[in-house]
Amino acid sequence: MDCLFCKIVAREIPADMVFENDACLAFRDLNPQAPTHVLIVPKKHIDGLASASLDDDLQSLLLAASEIARQEGIDRAGYRVVINSGQQAGQTVFHLHVHVLGGRTMAWPPG
Ligand code: 5GP
Ligand code: ZN
Repeated sequence: MDCLFCKIVAREIPADMVFENDACLAFRDLNPQAPTHVLIVPKKHIDGLASASLDDDLQSLLLAASEIARQEGIDRAGYRVVINSGQQAGQTVFHLHVHVLGGRTMAWPPG
């Protein structure tokens, strides 16, 4: 399958890895939108949140987000966890991923 994040999971494309467990892998975003900007992807290909099912281990993505925030030292100040689902929300890579952003003050509502 011609999927960028599957290729990163398979180590066919390099990425700056920050975390891994049985279910997911996390690496720094190539075009960071905050001092800390990490992407967490399930190792299994899922197109996006709309395609996820109860059988998919979504829990491990959120628990990884909280673990990575601690590891990056942004947990006390606060951080944002984002899933862009679909084109209008700004999803550009159609392999489910969770953004973890921190290290600066976040605006609300998001743009
Ligand atoms: P989306 O817009 O789909 O929610 O997020 C996709 C993210 O993937 C973007 O923030 C973009 O900067 C990041 N990205 C795109 N290509 C690459 C890549 O080859 N390596 C890494 N590390 N991040 C990428
Ligand atoms: Zn994929």
